Amino acid sequence: MGARKPQHRILKGIGVSPGVAYGKVCVYGDLHTVPRYPIQAEEVNGELARLDEAIRESSRALEKMRRKVEAEMGKEEADIFLAHQMMVEDKHFRAQVAQRMTRTHLNVEAAIEDVLEESGRVFRESENAYLRERADDLQDVGHRLLSNLLSYQRECLLDEKGKTIVAADELSPSLTVHLDKRRVAGFVTERGGLTSHASILARAMGVPAVVGVHGLPNDVEIGYPAIVDGFEGTVHLHPTPEVVVEYQRLEAELAAHQETHRALIDLPSVTQDGEKVVLEANIGKGVDVESALLYKAEGVGLYRTEFHFMIRSEFPDEEEQYILYRRAVERMAPYPVTIRTLDLGGDKYLSYLPRTREANPYLGWRGIRVSLGHPKVLKTQLKAILRAGVHGQVRVLFPMIATMEDLRRAKEVLREAGEELGAEGIPHDEAVPVGAMIEVPSAAVLAPVLVREVDFVSIGTNDLTQFILAVDRSNERVSRYYEPLSPAVLWLVRDVIWVARETGKEVSICGEMAGEPAYVPLLLGLGLRHFSMSPVLIPDVKEVIRSSTIAQAKKIAERALVVPTAEEVKAVLAGEQASV
Ligand code: PEP
Ligand code: MG
Repeated sequence: MGARKPQHRILKGIGVSPGVAYGKVCVYGDLHTVPRYPIQAEEVNGELARLDEAIRESSRALEKMRRKVEAEMGKEEADIFLAHQMMVEDKHFRAQVAQRMTRTHLNVEAAIEDVLEESGRVFRESENAYLRERADDLQDVGHRLLSNLLSYQRECLLDEKGKTIVAADELSPSLTVHLDKRRVAGFVTERGGLTSHASILARAMGVPAVVGVHGLPNDVEIGYPAIVDGFEGTVHLHPTPEVVVEYQRLEAELAAHQETHRALIDLPSVTQDGEKVVLEANIGKGVDVESALLYKAEGVGLYRTEFHFMIRSEFPDEEEQYILYRRAVERMAPYPVTIRTLDLGGDKYLSYLPRTREANPYLGWRGIRVSLGHPKVLKTQLKAILRAGVHGQVRVLFPMIATMEDLRRAKEVLREAGEELGAEGIPHDEAVPVGAMIEVPSAAVLAPVLVREVDFVSIGTNDLTQFILAVDRSNERVSRYYEPLSPAVLWLVRDVIWVARETGKEVSICGEMAGEPAYVPLLLGLGLRHFSMSPVLIPDVKEVIRSSTIAQAKKIAERALVVPTAEEVKAVLAGEQASV
């Protein structure tokens, strides 16, 4: 009987990063369940030999990656692979797996899974902080071994030259920052939402992505040809030649569209009636600053510094951070670089910072709360930022401010950082402008008093939307409730912009909303003049700005602000008459 010809199938999800990509699927992580089957006593040795081969193979792959990352990114980034190499070669771990197999007479993959589960629990619950910190590393190393045994091509993430569609149950921001844009053509995941950080990173990388594809583990296999359609939120498995041709045509059209948009890069961001609008970049990895320059961003409105911390195996020290920030500041000069202090929690965490499991991570140990809980970490970062300020224009931005107390305590640490640098005789900028993210509803409500104690505010509509509407931004099950155009969100955004402008303080939006061309007239009409977004989005937003007038924009905003539903707001933006 001949092999069955694979059928073309379409999976539905949520498109979170526009574009189309064609490539072969590479499966990452937990997507497949680990097989469990009984073995005979005499098979144990054979299974152990498989384990040894997988250990050797994993160790070789880690060594290769360590060298590569060290050459391309530096020693610090590469150290994580060294730590993993030591773990994969750990004799104790091998002995545990062997014991387990002898006792249970189950295959080696099942034994590894059980040992991982058991050790992971012991690590997480340990009194010893070092062991707790290693729990995630252990999982990572274990998955690598399993991938190897089950021939999952995990290394394709870093090694494949061809185009790869990365399939995963969920993409963690830490994995996404490690991926090489030149090799990854698209992402598809079972979980995640529009403003999950991995989705934001996918957009910044210009990699088409679809999340929330239910049943992905059953549907997808390594090496499957697939098309990711980030516009429609669909994934085509085993596309027919006709479908491939159709998508190739679309890809060519997109390339032509990008070409015409290239012309926009050099044009000023000014409305038809002469109003200047500042378009800034959101950056994360150091190289993003090159993208900001390429798209002629007039500053960095949001530097998400946590990604520097996520790709390391321990906290970067002051000197190392200073070098990173200084590079961005010098490259962007004379434009300002707004450096946000470490914003951990939610879907971003560090393998080396102990954390407890939280029932509601987005409402938990996040942002400035983590930093204030580790004032030395915060102070080190602030000192590095102040020092970078000597080389251009730097601004400090505090994330997740929910109370005046938090803001004041953060400013106090900033003052101490300046004093310490002064006492140490280290050159630094003594008057770095200070800003607060307005992304928690309480901060938005407190805006009239809060703006008095800062130099600028930046509205984080990603979090603000999730908190106002009580919708987890990464949870695809509730994604249809996640609606930044909801009047509840818009009215609060309007108030914050109004308050800031009344007090003469700069206000920007750095959430994903700012990079959505369809929302631009509305935001202009609300009085917004600073937008910060992924650099790739700048030309599209600029095009709308250049074809708008403030008078029209105000009319649109007026209409949008009197309708009670997001659907009606959308109708207003689409130019349809509001039903009032
Ligand atoms: C936001 O919440 O809108 C924001 C810009 O911050 P982040 O997406 O990093 O949480
Ligand atoms: Mg936020």
